[in-house]
Amino acid sequence: MRTPTMRAVVMREFGGPETLRIEEVPAPQPASLRERDVLIRVRAVGVCYHDIINRSGNLPRTRLPSILGHEIAGEVEAVGSGVQAFRAGDRVATIQRVHCGRCDLCRRGRTTLCKEGVFFGEEIPGGYADYVVSEEQGLARVPEGLAIEEASICACTIGTALHVVRARGGVQLDETVLITGASGGVGLHTIQVCRLIGARVLAVTSSPQKADDLRKAGADEVIVAPSLKFAEQARRLTSGRGVDVVLEITGALTFDQAMRSLAPAGRLIVVGNLETRPVSFMPGLVILNELEIRGSFATTTPELSESFRLVGEKKVRPMVSRLMPLSDAPRAHQILYDRGVTGRIVLQV
Ligand SMILES: [Zn+2]
Ligand SMILES: [Zn+2]
Repeated sequence: MRTPTMRAVVMREFGGPETLRIEEVPAPQPASLRERDVLIRVRAVGVCYHDIINRSGNLPRTRLPSILGHEIAGEVEAVGSGVQAFRAGDRVATIQRVHCGRCDLCRRGRTTLCKEGVFFGEEIPGGYADYVVSEEQGLARVPEGLAIEEASICACTIGTALHVVRARGGVQLDETVLITGASGGVGLHTIQVCRLIGARVLAVTSSPQKADDLRKAGADEVIVAPSLKFAEQARRLTSGRGVDVVLEITGALTFDQAMRSLAPAGRLIVVGNLETRPVSFMPGLVILNELEIRGSFATTTPELSESFRLVGEKKVRPMVSRLMPLSDAPRAHQILYDRGVTGRIVLQV
């Protein structure tokens, strides 16, 4: 008997968008599911800058050939023998990286740091395909009334925002928060979560035409900095004091300016990095101002569920800016790379 196949966007080598090709590949089978596995019929998958970094060959754990896509939503097709929480027909969405739930870090609640964690599109096949398999601890139920396209992006945008703003940033009412790369998917939702907490938001973008979108998303001030020099303006907007928190979504490109924007006792939380290269900073600045530099990685499953709750209560809005068919994955990558979109592109499967 022939193995049933599925459509998938397969990446057989690293390189430009043209390395993404739609193919017929063997589909994962219900009979081969392990105990905690859930087989999902994919309906929507978000296109994330992480996918571009991965496609370019800049993530060390990716094994080729690979299927990208970690922002996945769809319906449960079948479950492994040990799965209790889900059954066929349930609408579900994934987090980006599935934890084991058993190691010491998982037991301490730091599941995003799980030693055995597997990232869709890196260690395991992702969602640019008709079907995907995830262990159940990486899934949350999509509430009724939430469109599957919106559900797909909640983990990597709103969930990531909750993780960086609250869990890692400890952002408080009335603090001033500066956000770099604010017009991307994570940025727009991070603005919303900061506003929900009652923080004042300074949003940085390199493109003047995105300023309006940032204001609409809730930014109190927009700093347009085509040259990525924004520290001086950040100080001006805080009466010379500097900001309490920088949420660094751009990473290495803006790290120095981010450090120079901080008030004494400020926190710099690094959550995104568009260019994988080292940075330098003045240790003296960190000592004299007792600055803190922290990292923030991905999303926990409870944060995904909470994202759904906040969307249901209309406190945060998932910003899908464009829907495209799965076969348009290469074009979606090009548009995202050219910064031709505010918010997320979602591929419909
Ligand atoms: Zn993502
Ligand atoms: Zn673990």
